[in-house]
Amino acid sequence: MVSYIHDRADFMAGRTTVQERVDFFLSSIDDQSVLNAWLFVDRDQARAAALAADERFAAGLARPLEGCVVAVKDNISVKGMPMTCASRMLDGFTPVYHATVIERLLDAGAIILGKTNMDEFAMGSSNETSAFGAVLNPHDPSRVPGGSSGGSAVAVAASMCHVALGSDTGGSIRQPAAFCGTVGLKPTYGTVSRYGLTAFASSLDQIGPFASTVDDAALVFDVMAGQDPLDSTSLTREQPSMATRPPSSIRVGVIPPATMEGCDRAIIHAYHNAIDTLRAHGTSIHEVSLGNTDVWVPTYFVLATAEASSNLSRFDGVRYGFRAEPTEDLDMMTATRTAGFGAEVKRRIMLGTFVLSAGYVDAYYGKAQKARRLISDTYAAMFADVDVLLMPTTPTTAFRLGEKNSDPVAMWLSDLFTVSANISGIPAVSVPTGKDDHGLPIGLQVQGPLHADALVMAVASLITS
Ligand code: GLN
Repeated sequence: MVSYIHDRADFMAGRTTVQERVDFFLSSIDDQSVLNAWLFVDRDQARAAALAADERFAAGLARPLEGCVVAVKDNISVKGMPMTCASRMLDGFTPVYHATVIERLLDAGAIILGKTNMDEFAMGSSNETSAFGAVLNPHDPSRVPGGSSGGSAVAVAASMCHVALGSDTGGSIRQPAAFCGTVGLKPTYGTVSRYGLTAFASSLDQIGPFASTVDDAALVFDVMAGQDPLDSTSLTREQPSMATRPPSSIRVGVIPPATMEGCDRAIIHAYHNAIDTLRAHGTSIHEVSLGNTDVWVPTYFVLATAEASSNLSRFDGVRYGFRAEPTEDLDMMTATRTAGFGAEVKRRIMLGTFVLSAGYVDAYYGKAQKARRLISDTYAAMFADVDVLLMPTTPTTAFRLGEKNSDPVAMWLSDLFTVSANISGIPAVSVPTGKDDHGLPIGLQVQGPLHADALVMAVASLITS
């Protein structure tokens, strides 16, 4: 993996150039094309931007992310680059504006190298639902990279860019980060503008960075964060005053052993090692109660599918991309949605439509909203007693391609440890903390109260290997 902050020192000192680095990334993309991480790469533009960045370094005019090469998940708008959300539905669609995060990265000097493969419309945990084929894990190509931002995780893990953007609705940054051995941050809901992100479940979606180090992730986050008039849910960022606290003042919550039943032994082992490391740094360790964790995944899937069924109604063959011809039995819109969406997306739309339907809305959607409040209240009460919470990111390391495809519920249950941060809006970062017996990366997660993004990253950097 290649750290931008490390490279930047070399660019500054003239030891290497941004152009050399871009060429390195481009050949790394070519050499590892079998991983299927990219859907679009803009070589010429990247080379031209690298030349301009080198000139700025030489002139002493480098901006905070000058020459930082960024991969962008293909559900985030980059003006002039095709955007598919890894779906046939958006065939031929090219956005005419930048997402706010892209504007901010470009203003800071970043180079947008291209768009990465993903689960279709960000729905999945394995990157196997992409209409453009699965992405493979660079640590073992017979295994999944995680999802839905699998292409972005692989682009960082396989040294094809400095940093990558993903979106996290129920774990889609943190889970692939864990499976591929990178850092992945899901910021506090509202901290990073969603303008230009294709909505999956608007009350849960957040854009965040993948990076080789916590410091790189923090730098990119700092550039992207901040209020945006184009996103009505975006928040003014509170100052990260807790970031500089000495470790001895930090109270770390840990989960009871029963909550980790069903986790790989290697992950439980890594969890205990991390606790020892945190103790050695002087933090205090406290076992906390998370209430009934069995309700997390069902609550997430009711809320996420309900919102998705509404958000995806815009893909009707009229407004964007793909359009199918009507048939004798199907009108144009039905024919378009039948041919344009893959199986997982259809499953979500049907489930979401069901939980919102008259007669069932109180029993499912209404109940899930109450459960959401309960989960958030439980977290808030816990964060009165501790400053951060340490959890595994995933119950297992990367599973095999095809392993969970015939059982959607087993796939959904693998999101156990990630969905609660989206349900309650809190920040969470996954960091690599070693490997299992197969050499597969293990990720652990630090969560904190709303707006404690800087603190969770500071604690995460204490435990990362
Ligand atoms: N794996 C989860 C899902 O399938 C999360 C997806 C996401 O965060 N975009 O919904």
